[in-house]
Amino acid sequence: MRELTYVARDTVEWREAPDPKLRGDGEAIVTPVAATSCDVDTAILAGHATRRQPHIRFSLDPPFALGHECVARVVETGDGVTSVAPGDLVVVPWSINCGACDHCRSGLTAHCTAVPHMAMYGAPIGGTWGGLFSDLVRVPYADAMLVPLPAGLDPVAMASASDNWSLAWRLVAPHLRNRPGARVLVVARGSIGLYVADIARALGASTVLHVDPDPGHRELAREFGAATAETLDPPVHHGFDIAVEATGRVDQLALALRSLAPEGVCESAGNHFRPGELPLLDMYLTGVTLRIARDNVRAHIPDALALARSGKVDPARVVSHVLDWEQLPEALPEKHLKPVFVRGEGGAGEG
Ligand SMILES: [Zn+2]
Ligand SMILES: [Zn+2]
Repeated sequence: MRELTYVARDTVEWREAPDPKLRGDGEAIVTPVAATSCDVDTAILAGHATRRQPHIRFSLDPPFALGHECVARVVETGDGVTSVAPGDLVVVPWSINCGACDHCRSGLTAHCTAVPHMAMYGAPIGGTWGGLFSDLVRVPYADAMLVPLPAGLDPVAMASASDNWSLAWRLVAPHLRNRPGARVLVVARGSIGLYVADIARALGASTVLHVDPDPGHRELAREFGAATAETLDPPVHHGFDIAVEATGRVDQLALALRSLAPEGVCESAGNHFRPGELPLLDMYLTGVTLRIARDNVRAHIPDALALARSGKVDPARVVSHVLDWEQLPEALPEKHLKPVFVRGEGGAGEG
């Protein structure tokens, strides 16, 4: 089979690898049918996540298999797998988790203790698990990891449920439940912020301000009912109850924090590969809660899919391109926001 492999800055290519095989009763082999790039893949492809920066302890130096967002079709399952069967369409979460350790059982699926710390698809930072832009993928804990795609949901629209769509749900939905009608600020660069804007409006935010330098992104945010701005400098003093920052830039996180109302909450999507300063005295005086965490995505993929199924939101609108699987090597470095690569009829394991 082929793995789409990150080989150099802005360059990916197909490399041959042995077909993955079941290594135990609880495993599955799947073939991605609709896969897309996570917002962080853009930073990885641009070389922003390598060891050349001393505060980054892990290596994202090429080569490695890329991709950690997809809807896949189950090809084969071990005898112990009960929740999915060959032919099923499933969401494959980005992180590897066993479902049985103390962390997994308390929902901390990004911190599973049965596998090396940070074990994930698409980046070699907790062992090597392959990437979701590969022809075939081994899923080591099929019942714990895989989530059947509910009927009626489009694999292209939901390819991001592995990570960015479900992350966006977690960044804003629980906070809006606690603070109905809250004012929401989104400081963003890519798909996560757009999903957050859509979800925030759908779940009753009284106002949503979406800040993104990209005019196309701002137009989409307006379609989701958000007000928009190109920049947020100076910050909006005491302007928002909830702020979501998804830029990977510490200066933007600081602006979001400085726009919070007293006892406001800021969620950050993280991936700040360069250091920077936070306005700690401002944060103290305002009284803010900042959460920045690798997402325990498996715990809330079902909630995020349920919201998509409700029809109150429209994640398909964020899909920027629908392209054939075979276009991955040329198109992935070029097509930003949310290109979805779809495996054509007759592809590996299809049908
Ligand atoms: Zn990701
Ligand atoms: Zn575990």
